[in-house]
Amino acid sequence: MLRIPLTLHGQKWEIRFCKKIMHEGREVAGLCEINNKIIRIWTGLSGKQLAQTILHEIGHASDWHKDEPYVDDQADAMVKILFHKAIQGMLEG
Ligand SMILES: [Zn+2]
Repeated sequence: MLRIPLTLHGQKWEIRFCKKIMHEGREVAGLCEINNKIIRIWTGLSGKQLAQTILHEIGHASDWHKDEPYVDDQADAMVKILFHKAIQGMLEG
């Protein structure tokens, strides 16, 4: 299992890439476990979906009190700008 340590606002988190993630009886693509500081990301994701899910879960980790639409909108905006053609070249450069 791929595990990537991440320090966020002074707290040590770990991003774990998992083949299956269950939450409240259903399969999910991402999960933020606030109590043990683990973000789980489904290994089946790639591209924009992978980026959106990671940013969404980091949004929860950053501020647990923000609701689902807030972290989703924020992640969408970040994916939109980071995947913009003009920005892609700059990121690689
Ligand atoms: Zn969420």
